Amino acid sequence: MRLSPVQVEADLRQRLQALYAELSAATAGECAAACTRPQSCCASLYCGIAIDFARSHWDVELVPTWHRSLPLMGPDGCTAAPHLRPLCTAHTCAISDFGCKQGDAGWTARYFTLVDAIAALEVELFGADGNSTILR
Ligand code: SF4
Ligand code: SF4
Repeated sequence: MRLSPVQVEADLRQRLQALYAELSAATAGECAAACTRPQSCCASLYCGIAIDFARSHWDVELVPTWHRSLPLMGPDGCTAAPHLRPLCTAHTCAISDFGCKQGDAGWTARYFTLVDAIAALEVELFGADGNSTILR
C-alpha cells in the first residue's frame, strides 16, 4: 500500500523523535555520570535557539517557564522534548572537547550512528537547509 505524503511525513517525524529520544538517553547518561556542575552548559541563547527551532521545524510553541535566566528550564531539568532542542540533546563535554568519548569507542560509535541517522531523516523531512548542520 502506498502511503500518502501526510503519512510519510508523520512516519518520518515519529522516527526522528525516537532517534532523538535515544540520543538524549545516551548523552544524559554521560552527564549524569560525569558532570560536576550539572546543566552548567545551559544558556539562554540555546533555549532561544530551541524555541525558534521548535516553532519553525515542528510547529510547536515552547512555553517559557518561571526560570529567570533559562526560559526552558523547569524544576526537573529541561522542559523541551529532545527533538525540539537538537543542539542541547547532542551536546556532551566529551564530544565538544575531544570529538569522542575517550576510552569508549562503543559509546562514540553509537553516538555518531544516531547523529548520522538523525541527519539523514532531517534532510528528508526538512530539506538540505533544515537539517543536521544544527548538530555539527
Ligand atoms: S537543555 Fe533546555 S534549558 Fe538547557 S539550554 Fe537547552 S533548551 Fe535551554
Ligand atoms: S554537557 Fe558537560 S557541563 Fe553540560 S551537563 Fe553534560 S557534563 Fe555537565
